[in-house]
Amino acid sequence: MRPKIDHDKCIGCGNCQEVCPAVFHLNEEIGKAEVIDPEGCELADCCEAAAENCPVEAITIEED
Ligand code: SF4
Repeated sequence: MRPKIDHDKCIGCGNCQEVCPAVFHLNEEIGKAEVIDPEGCELADCCEAAAENCPVEAITIEED
């Protein structure tokens, strides 16, 4: 599973970082979230929850 963030959609709310800090980080300089560990979804069981909690559906999880 590979998480991707659509920066055109991201509004920088920080929900993904709150739900899944091992994988997502809010870059406050640009006001957008970033994936800090693309492999992290294999270990952290929170990527799908982060995607569900994104208010603008900017997170997609690609299956390998
Ligand atoms: S939850 Fe969605 S809108 Fe909010 S920071 Fe994360 S990717 Fe951006």
